[in-house]
Amino acid sequence: MNLPQDFLDEMKLILKDDFQQYIGAVDKEPFRGISVNRIKITPEKLIPLLPFAVQKSPFYDDGYYIPINEQGIGKHPLHHAGSFYVQEPSASSAVSLLDVQPGEKVLDLCAAPGGKSIQIASKLSGTGLIWSNEVVRNRAQILLSNFERMGVANGVVSSCYPEVLCEKLGSYFDKVLVDAPCSGEGMFRKNPAASLEWSREHVQACANRQLSILDSAAQCVRPGGVLVYSTCTFSYEENEGVIKTFLAAHPDFEESGTRQHFGRQTELSCAVRITPLEGGEGHFAARLRRKGNDTNISIPVIRNHHLPKASLYQAAEKMLFELYDDLPEGILSVNKNKVYLLPHLMPDINGLGVVRAGVLVGEYKKNRIEPAHALFMSSRPSSLRQVLSLEQNDKRVDEFLSGMEIECDAASGYTAVLYCGVVIGFGKCSNGRLKNKYPKGIRQTAGSSYLRTE
Ligand code: SAM
Repeated sequence: MNLPQDFLDEMKLILKDDFQQYIGAVDKEPFRGISVNRIKITPEKLIPLLPFAVQKSPFYDDGYYIPINEQGIGKHPLHHAGSFYVQEPSASSAVSLLDVQPGEKVLDLCAAPGGKSIQIASKLSGTGLIWSNEVVRNRAQILLSNFERMGVANGVVSSCYPEVLCEKLGSYFDKVLVDAPCSGEGMFRKNPAASLEWSREHVQACANRQLSILDSAAQCVRPGGVLVYSTCTFSYEENEGVIKTFLAAHPDFEESGTRQHFGRQTELSCAVRITPLEGGEGHFAARLRRKGNDTNISIPVIRNHHLPKASLYQAAEKMLFELYDDLPEGILSVNKNKVYLLPHLMPDINGLGVVRAGVLVGEYKKNRIEPAHALFMSSRPSSLRQVLSLEQNDKRVDEFLSGMEIECDAASGYTAVLYCGVVIGFGKCSNGRLKNKYPKGIRQTAGSSYLRTE
């Protein structure tokens, strides 16, 4: 691969004695990985079910390398089930620095397609709140479909400019992640064409934009809270340079964190850089802390929370009692004919470009609620009244994912479909058949499921 000379000169300064080793790695195949979604499954249960070998990644405790040539992973039933997310291994490192704890309120400001938000949601496992924002509207839709597949119920997906969102939300969050748009130098091995767009001017423009996003993000961190900044580029200017400028302009923030056990050290003790020489395509992450300590930030009132009319409320309750032994938690809310379950910790969402808050419970049709795919995807199997359990070699798995009606020995009514114990969707059982409710937009062609088992 031919890389721009100015870029190589920069890399020489960053890598020093290791520069020649980097040049030797430039034309090698990129690393690939997955992160496990604990909302759905544990790594211990998932790994023996995967049809390929994995190797532990150093960057994240639920991250694994996968073989570089493995094809069709997105068609694996456990991928449909949201059990794992395909993620370049070093990209998972930023969430390790964030160190999310159950019950925390976390903002991911530049979130699409959603790899890091899914890691955060996995760490929260249904507690606290994950607010994921993506300024580009159609990318926010991809984020939403990932939230639904991964079963995130305690989340908000928005598409809003950081300056608008952060001013309105205020210092509400325990943790804020800015995984900023960047010059993408860590993507060159995966996408060599990206190097054609590289220039010093572009790096400078990225650094300016990154600072402006960080300025907004700073407003959302509560005193004592944590701000993690990350990029998938190596550039000093976009990384250490941005952090130093930010700290100079924000004396209420300080470096936080000790040396990580992965990556290469930087001149900032709070930051780590990962290159192909450390086992990842390329990432930089820095952890800052807002001085002070205030864990009692009041929760802004949810002003646009529309309580369902009594008839709708009753229909929703009836449907939920029919589906669950153990009801899902949240606040029932309605927008037009759609019913949602909102997380308890949700702030006011008015005017913030919210695409989805909480989980879609269902749609009101002819005096009843038709349940939604997203509701089942976010449900614990043990909480559901009626399930159809499919195991690894059952041909109905492929039939179900391609939208076909399948055999079902459950009683009549809505039935969750499980693959190896993980909810993959639902249908309506009647007379030994399951009418398929797998959404049309995500169905696959019959026979294309990835079920290799050697
Ligand atoms: N965190 C994501 C993940 O793990 O999947 C990747 C985020 S990507 C590196 C950066 C995102 O920032 C892109 O989705 C891009 O659309 C968005 N972005 C672009 N310009 C932006 C801006 N001015 N403010 C905020 N976000 C922006």
